[in-house]
Amino acid sequence: MTFDFTPEQDQLRDAVRALGRRYGHGYFVEKAKAGEHTTELWAEAGRLGYLGVNIPTEYGGGGGGITELAIVCEELAAAGCPLLLLVVSPAIAATVINRHGTEEQRKRHLPGLADGSQKIVFAITEPEAGSNFHRLGTVARRDGDDWLLNGRKCYISGVDEAGHVLVVARTEDSSTGKLKPALFLVPTDAAGLTRSKLDMEIVSPENQFLLYLDDVRVPADALVGESLDAGLPALFAGLNPERITVAAMGAGTGRYAIERASEYTATRKVWGGRSIGSHQGVSHPLAHAAVQVELARLMIQKAATLYDAGRDLEAGVAGNMAKYAAGEAAALAVDTAVQALGGAGMTTEYGVATLLGAVRAGRIAPVSREMILNFVAQHVLGQEKSY
Ligand SMILES: Cc1cc2nc3c(=O)[nH]c(=O)nc-3n(C[C@H](O)[C@H](O)[C@H](O)COP(=O)(O)OP(=O)(O)OC[C@H]3O[C@@H](n4cnc5c(N)ncnc54)[C@H](O)[C@@H]3O)c2cc1C
Repeated sequence: MTFDFTPEQDQLRDAVRALGRRYGHGYFVEKAKAGEHTTELWAEAGRLGYLGVNIPTEYGGGGGGITELAIVCEELAAAGCPLLLLVVSPAIAATVINRHGTEEQRKRHLPGLADGSQKIVFAITEPEAGSNFHRLGTVARRDGDDWLLNGRKCYISGVDEAGHVLVVARTEDSSTGKLKPALFLVPTDAAGLTRSKLDMEIVSPENQFLLYLDDVRVPADALVGESLDAGLPALFAGLNPERITVAAMGAGTGRYAIERASEYTATRKVWGGRSIGSHQGVSHPLAHAAVQVELARLMIQKAATLYDAGRDLEAGVAGNMAKYAAGEAAALAVDTAVQALGGAGMTTEYGVATLLGAVRAGRIAPVSREMILNFVAQHVLGQEKSY
């Protein structure tokens, strides 16, 4: 067992940290408040190869794994730039296409995902189905060689920035008559696909949308994979990378908040000569949060290592636990940092309260803490399924 990253992974971490710090949280907040995107940061990260670290070299990527992508997510977040679309586009979409797409789909989409010139977002959540994807109501029906998609999706991130949306729909299985899931690469400008932006209480340059699919016609080759049988494995393929990278983003955000707070409390003096950080009522909560973040980082490292070794089932357990731990640790770290900064904690200038909405959402999305606890209770503790 080793807790060391490879020299290449350490170099990647240092380089991404340097890039993130050149932009910083001020840039992230400025873009969010102006209703703009972090276009420059995304483009530069793409040019430097950071967005494609997990994509095979033959499609223009770095040939690494989810360990490398988790490093990118964590370090950008630790610099105050938690980019949710890293979780959606390179982690979910690129993995799904690489593992289950056709060769033609890999050639068409992966190079653009790798250099950042293309983004593909992911749409599974629906107003009626919620956490229960077995109830998905979006339906894809054959019409000649084409598919016609109808349904509604909600909270879909980044549709305004993406060229395609990976839509999870149900199709009729001709052999059994049962409905089963399939994934479709739908151009965001397809006729019949409309969207409306949701007002979210999150300071973020990335937006969430309601999506309406009304007779959206896509050609046969929009279906991910060679046949309908690719649907379920393709859907599951995206889950581990999603959980691991969103956990990494949470851990990075936690590190950022604790760092900001520690700098402040080590120097702020309101009682004679002592810093406020000398009071254990201030330093212990920060130290406790630092422990929680570090524990989450260990679990992320374990989950990513298992995933990259092809041990998907074990990675599923570790990835869910990592996501849970990091989601809780990030929320704790940001809240503790705000408290430690006092009034300054609530200002935009100190750049901590600006993350409250994001870390709160991190306990709900992309999978809620309750659904992870259900997973652990059922698959690790052998409890009966309650739903
Ligand atoms: C910022 C943000 C970005 C998002 N981006 C995307 C995206 O890009 N693409 C996408 O498809 N979705 C996205 N989502 C949606 C997100 O994945 C869902 O909000 C999440 O999965 C929860 O689903 P729900 O909101 O329908 O909650 P519901 O399913 O309605 O659940 C509500 C509450 O009840 C709890 N609950 C539900 N069922 C159970 C149960 N059986 N046992 C115990 N507790 C239960 C849940 O944990 C939750 O706390 C995003 C959401 C947010 C907030």
